Amino acid sequence: MGIKETDDKYVAGTYKRFPVEIISGKGSVVKDVTGKEYIDMGCGIGVTSFGICDDTWKDAVVAQLDKVQHMSNLYYTEPCALLAKALCEKTGMKKVFFGNSGAEANECAIKAARKYSQDKKGSEWFTIVTLKNSFHGRTLTTLAATGQEHYHELFTPLTPGFVHVTAGDIDELKKLAESTKIAGVMIECIQGEGGVIPLEAEYVKALRKFTEENDIPLIADEVQTGNGRTGCLYAYMNYGIVPDIVSTAKGIGGGLPLGACLLGEKCQNALGYGDHGSTFGGNPVCCAGALTIINRIDEKLLEEVKKKSAYIFNAFKDAEGVEDISGMGLMIGIKTSRPAGEVVSACIENGVLCLTAKDRVRLLPALNISWDLLEKAVDIIKNACK
Ligand SMILES: *Cc1c(COP(=O)(O)O)cnc(C)c1O
Repeated sequence: MGIKETDDKYVAGTYKRFPVEIISGKGSVVKDVTGKEYIDMGCGIGVTSFGICDDTWKDAVVAQLDKVQHMSNLYYTEPCALLAKALCEKTGMKKVFFGNSGAEANECAIKAARKYSQDKKGSEWFTIVTLKNSFHGRTLTTLAATGQEHYHELFTPLTPGFVHVTAGDIDELKKLAESTKIAGVMIECIQGEGGVIPLEAEYVKALRKFTEENDIPLIADEVQTGNGRTGCLYAYMNYGIVPDIVSTAKGIGGGLPLGACLLGEKCQNALGYGDHGSTFGGNPVCCAGALTIINRIDEKLLEEVKKKSAYIFNAFKDAEGVEDISGMGLMIGIKTSRPAGEVVSACIENGVLCLTAKDRVRLLPALNISWDLLEKAVDIIKNACK
């Protein structure tokens, strides 16, 4: 049996895999088992922020592996503390809880918002409002938060206490607040799985104002948009607002599983001793790697991200077979005349890995992809769109 057959037989059938077996890579190039090379325009799903086997990241990971690979959260370890400090210093947030995934980061954010509101206003203040077309994860609670019905089917009853409102309609939220005791509002500034759809700046500002005035924690789900992806360290920074809670994962670990929930001034003490925990959370190897990622997301890198973004937008703007292009930074959605899945298959054929999001081709290349590889990949994707 080959690897494909073994996987098909023994791994749970939750993924529709492309017929490609990746064995190695370096930077923005990956190689399959036949020796064929691909330019990586997906980075897992926005995970390998500085590419495959990035030297700086790898050195830190290996060095930590030689010291201690895991310690329970009963003890202190250096990488966990230093990463929390770096995240707080770069964002102005006050405390960090570490988990292992985006869903867990959101679970923590939801718990913190509920705890804050219930402590302050009473136990009936539990409802979390999210947006229609959002994606917040696959656990039963983050599925409840996810505003797309098709993810819910077959798994009901989901965790109660979630309501979805229309993105862009601040009056709908205000009306809801008259009849519902809202404990928190959670948004993705750019809806990733929803099709790479940025929220309108005016709406985000109005949302911040309303939640501020009503003492409702605002949660930014930065699992996909975070860690330099959109040309700012976190996407909310593009909007000139400061949320009360920020959840992130994907790109923060550079390829190892890590999630973080950043708590701002308002909610910094919402979770106290015994209120939350994670066996693996804050793992020293993951945190040592993540520290090299966060420390390198500086103004210079972000300027490069913006330049590369402008190049991609420009290249696809009037391209044949392209109907629309959306996103920010190096998080880009291309609406194609051909079905997006067909475009992605044609790209694979021609040596480029990219993703889809709903009816769009989605690009999430490494933040440091070389100009040379980026130009090559864009040419191949443009051809596949025709
Ligand atoms: C991917 C994603 C999640 C879930 O992250 P996991 O690590 O798969 O649990 C949550 N929110 C957003 C916005 C995401 O893109």
